[in-house]
Amino acid sequence: MQPFTYASPRSAADAVAAFDRAGDGASYIAGGTSLYDMMKLDVARPRHLIDVTAIAGLDAIETEGDTLRFGSLATMSDVARHERVLADYPVLAESLWKAASQQLRNMATVGGNLLQRTRCIYFRNGTGNPSAVGAYPCNKRQPGSGCAAIDGLDRGQAVLGQSEACTAVSPGDWPVALTALDASIELLGPQGRRVLPIGELYRLPGATPHLEFTVRPGEIITAIMVPKTAAGRQSTYHKIRDRESYAFALASAAVALDMNGARVRRAHIALGGVATRPWRADAAERLLVGQQLTPETALAAGRAALAGATPGRQNGFKIELGARTVADALMIAAERNA
Ligand code: SF4
Repeated sequence: MQPFTYASPRSAADAVAAFDRAGDGASYIAGGTSLYDMMKLDVARPRHLIDVTAIAGLDAIETEGDTLRFGSLATMSDVARHERVLADYPVLAESLWKAASQQLRNMATVGGNLLQRTRCIYFRNGTGNPSAVGAYPCNKRQPGSGCAAIDGLDRGQAVLGQSEACTAVSPGDWPVALTALDASIELLGPQGRRVLPIGELYRLPGATPHLEFTVRPGEIITAIMVPKTAAGRQSTYHKIRDRESYAFALASAAVALDMNGARVRRAHIALGGVATRPWRADAAERLLVGQQLTPETALAAGRAALAGATPGRQNGFKIELGARTVADALMIAAERNA
């Protein structure tokens, strides 16, 4: 742990200005559930912490109009138990309460959760951590150092979107649900406000796995917007993991259905636990349009969602598991009242 300065601005604009003044080594902090972990692991070494938790109003949850708007400081718990979210967007509520523990959900914010870093065991015990037992190469921690997972233990690694430099899974649940529902992210930075589709927030690892997000230096996430859709009511977040709670997904699927009787008018499908970023399953969505939803068509959609997946040495099971997770999620969503 190295010394750091601390500031607690009262507005988002003041936070951006404080970050700008602090210069190199500045980092925003909100709930701290991820950043403190990274600091203990010596992955993050901030020299200036800009604590945004005192900014008034940034935790607002607004459900009026055409858009759901979640202030970035709303906690995971607050959104997961919000009456309107529970009733009309179960996929959002479930993605949150199936993540982490209650204590963590009470602290962690929905904005910070978007920027959670991978749980790859080599990343968390990699080069640069002097207290680690052994020192594993990890391109995400130290660009160009190599990737211990590729010839190592890869049961938890990605089967979609991986590169020769990195196979780490994107760890989030909430970002997967937001991806299925075409959410947008509002940011404020030194150049002003901008809004980007969530699909543009996450980078594929390619040759630069240390660059994970498209957030620019000094930008703070101020809100998450979700367009309202009738499909929200027939939705679910289905998460398969090694134990029933407090575990990351081996495979997950966020699904929302717009049905015309027994036929699918439009399906929204995104995958977690199997890819290097929240993964939109476009081919599966196209396959279902106009189809009657049956266990057979649901499984065909699941297989389409995983088409192109490539296994490593121990994670081939994720391809079939992912397909069946999508199929099960579709059938669960279909049984919900529109
Ligand atoms: Fe690092 Fe990515 Fe390799 Fe894991 S998979 S060791 S995060 S480079």
